[in-house]
Amino acid sequence: MEGLMQDWPLLVHTVLDHASTYHGDREIVSRTVEGPIHRYTYKDLERRSRKLASACSKLGVKNGDIIGTMAWNGYRHMEAWYGIMGIGAVVHTLNPRLFADQLDYIVNHAEDQHFFLDLSFVPILEGLQDRLPSIKSFIIMTDEEHMPETTLRNVTCFETLVEGGDDDFSWPSFDENTACGMCYTSGTTGNPKGVLYSHRSNVLHALAAGQGDAVNLKSLDCVMPVVPMFHANAWSFVFSAPMAGAKMVMPGPLMDGASIYELLDTEAVNLTAAVPTVWLMLLQHLEETKKPLPKLDRVVIGGSACPPAMIEAFEKNYDTQVIHAWGMTEMSPLGSLCTFKGGLDHLSEDQLWEIKKKQGRPPYMVEMKITDDDGNVLPRDGVAFGHLSVRGPAIARAYFKSEGGEILDADGFFDTGDVSTLDEYGYMGITDRSKDVIKSGGEWISSIDLENLAVGHPDVAEAAVIGVAHPKWDERPLLICVVKEGCSPSKQDILEFMTGKIAKWWMPDDVAFIDEIPHTATGKISKLELRKSFVDYELPTAQAAE
Ligand code: ADP
Repeated sequence: MEGLMQDWPLLVHTVLDHASTYHGDREIVSRTVEGPIHRYTYKDLERRSRKLASACSKLGVKNGDIIGTMAWNGYRHMEAWYGIMGIGAVVHTLNPRLFADQLDYIVNHAEDQHFFLDLSFVPILEGLQDRLPSIKSFIIMTDEEHMPETTLRNVTCFETLVEGGDDDFSWPSFDENTACGMCYTSGTTGNPKGVLYSHRSNVLHALAAGQGDAVNLKSLDCVMPVVPMFHANAWSFVFSAPMAGAKMVMPGPLMDGASIYELLDTEAVNLTAAVPTVWLMLLQHLEETKKPLPKLDRVVIGGSACPPAMIEAFEKNYDTQVIHAWGMTEMSPLGSLCTFKGGLDHLSEDQLWEIKKKQGRPPYMVEMKITDDDGNVLPRDGVAFGHLSVRGPAIARAYFKSEGGEILDADGFFDTGDVSTLDEYGYMGITDRSKDVIKSGGEWISSIDLENLAVGHPDVAEAAVIGVAHPKWDERPLLICVVKEGCSPSKQDILEFMTGKIAKWWMPDDVAFIDEIPHTATGKISKLELRKSFVDYELPTAQAAE
């Protein structure tokens, strides 16, 4: 027998309608590419998104068309998301930090029909446009006054486009499974692959993200997503914040410590989110300027492992709760968040600290399992580690155009490519990416654990560990460090600091100092680049073994 409840499709613009009706005066504050701070409300966002939707329809955008965007976090980018998605078209976010060849491949693979871009990215698109035949027009996200001289073909000014839209346009209704967003994964192996979100998956994911034990979003919050909208769905904030009616602060192009601090302070932001590299810059700025951080209650840190030293710095020095989060583009992207749950009162401070460092528990709608190389499910004892697979309604079941073929196992689980533990309380701890784990004498060493330990040394700013070929052990860990300004620790200083804190056979065989650690387009340590740079590196222990 079927239930008798209404068939109300989960469409993302219903989130915007809700925000406009019930939190219409809540502000969205944006640092613009043109310079000034822009402020308006959810009511304005909703009205202008509808006008843009109408204008896009007039431009010929149809249900199912894929529309590229390359833009920072700001109100016009949000209007583009809601306006395009609201007519059943798909927003395809492009990461400006990718190389020209990757951008070229991705735009052509997705067959983007029109392209919205911030002023900052006009030169990139000018250089690329001849290789992008599918794009019919470029929309520069500014007003007439700031329109640049450009060689881009078929250019429209965003404000002029919005102006031409109808005020009384109302959203069409359609199937909640319609695609609405697209983001390519970095493709560290093989070509980048397109993840295609649906209205339903985005709405469900936003509900999961906002839960009390996840990000805990409320209308009282003032949220600044520093994580870019072009990186994995901006961790859902473009949907989850309006769903809660929270004030939003969008940082635009400036993500250095001083600029981020300025917005945190002047807008009284109490919740923010980004990858560890951003917080490294903020913490350095705070240390240098001796500024306090009184208004910030919680900071979501994910995208790569958050070093325990960073958790300590926020929690002990600034009384800001760190929510360590893990996820991936394929998961919309949040897969787990680390907040304490009920029933842990019997644990000691040390035991709680061990939990705090982990990547956390999955919210409802994410199922997890870990398996060995043969696919056998491993125990949830916090010790056994294996391949982490996930299942849920906001997790990819295939890549765009079937790239990569079948990606689910017989039970419908997706292999994340990460290796992790699961403990008896439900907390997941990432050991490594399976391709980064160091295989020494048939055993695995976690590069993340070593990195976390090394950055705890007061002179170390950033650390990366890679496996280097070894004649006896197959691979041994090499620790690569960037030291803090004015510091010059010796290799021995750092190794001594680590001694006794990890198993002896996990100790790095050598330490190398470099000026800068290479990062990927999404702000992660690029192990691929490091492995290339150190491909011929000879460990001091290698000769001894020969
Ligand atoms: P890209 O590879 O394009 O950067 P994602 O942003 O989807 O794509 O990266 C997802 C991967 O990032 C995860 O599979 C995991 O390896 C890593 N990751 C994300 N969050 C964390 C975290 N908190 N701790 C450790 N690794 C993380």
